[in-house]
Amino acid sequence: MMYSRTDAEDMDARDELRQYRDEFYIPNNTVYMDGNSLGLMTKRAESYTQSMLDAWKNYGIDGWTEGTYPWYYVSEYLGDRMAPLIGAKNEEVIATGSTTVNLHHLAATFYHPKGNRTKILADTLNFPSDIYALKAQLRLKGYDTSQLVQVSSQDGHMLDEADIIAAMTDDVALIVLPSVLYRSGQILDMERLTKEAHARDITIGFDLCHSVGAIPHNLHDWGVDFAFWCTYKHLNGGPGSIGGLFLHEKHFGITPGLAGWFSSAKDKQFDMEHTLTPADDAGAFQIGTPHVLSAAPLIGALDIFHEAGMASVRRKSLELTDYMMKLIDYELAAYGMAICNPKQHEQRGGHVYVEHPEAARICKALKMKGVIPDFRTPSGIRLAPVAFYNTFTDVYDTVHTLKDIMANGIYKQFANERDVVS
Ligand SMILES: *Cc1c(COP(=O)(O)O)cnc(C)c1O
Repeated sequence: MMYSRTDAEDMDARDELRQYRDEFYIPNNTVYMDGNSLGLMTKRAESYTQSMLDAWKNYGIDGWTEGTYPWYYVSEYLGDRMAPLIGAKNEEVIATGSTTVNLHHLAATFYHPKGNRTKILADTLNFPSDIYALKAQLRLKGYDTSQLVQVSSQDGHMLDEADIIAAMTDDVALIVLPSVLYRSGQILDMERLTKEAHARDITIGFDLCHSVGAIPHNLHDWGVDFAFWCTYKHLNGGPGSIGGLFLHEKHFGITPGLAGWFSSAKDKQFDMEHTLTPADDAGAFQIGTPHVLSAAPLIGALDIFHEAGMASVRRKSLELTDYMMKLIDYELAAYGMAICNPKQHEQRGGHVYVEHPEAARICKALKMKGVIPDFRTPSGIRLAPVAFYNTFTDVYDTVHTLKDIMANGIYKQFANERDVVS
């Protein structure tokens, strides 16, 4: 049961999100399984980008206040649109910067080493950029990187919340963790970690790059201090699209660590005073002129999340990854493909993660066969069937292409090494 292509076609026919696939540009003759690295382009993203260019063409400088989406307010507008995706109030969210820049900004704001409390707590599995940024912030405050404590993983894939909590000692000033781990796709229990951090008077923030647009969140109610994310993965904002930032309302009025004139209260900004009057909400975490052309596609991309709602996106995403894991177990276990993501729904993000010693060249063979995976050195293959544009048949075809590659040794024609960008 459930192992034939007809079953996949039946599931596609019942899929309540199936009309959205036509909204996306899917590269020709391709099964795209890489939406957690770069989401695909929507027709709506394309048309809003065109209308932003038209505003520039038609209004010149007046595009700041004229047109359908006046540039002066577009970051706040996008903040409002992202708020429901993370369970925040509108004023708690702003579109600005990028993941790494926003982390720098938040660490510059919230990392105040004092007395014995000098350490930053992170983990050994996070994406390198976050770790580089935290080490740089330590150096800026005059510390060496021994002040960064990285909780390790017992199996190399997952973190145990109990280990993280045990590391919340009274010398920790700030905690920064991923919401969903970029390799194994594990969801950390943000509510529990926040509660434990606050019980010890420690500020805590999360990197939502792999969870925003993939799973629902309740950041406001959980009391999370801050969060930051990119919009080009599950949110389909396009390469280099503007980032997102959450500041819990209990921190409204805090002085932004990397202030600039766009940190201003909107009605004060053009007074051109040398004393900043920051916005009284997350808007204070803007720095300079917003990257309007990198914001434009996100307007359209978020439209479809708004229409469909996170609950149905998550429901289908879990069905797709459940189905994919079942097929992998059935068709690929014999070839040494090991599923290394968590199996339970409450612990699993939006992608499936398998390991194999030949992963680099298996991924090259997959690409040659028209399936776009994501290789993570040294032996990881990430496969992200995305609710809006992937089908159950895509999942079926991906697993059967993999089976063909393994059974016939097709991967052996490639070198087992990564490309420059992977
Ligand atoms: C994708 C990703 C980033 C990328 O940061 P940018 O500043 O957007 O380049 C950082 N951290 C995590 C966890 C990511 O998944």
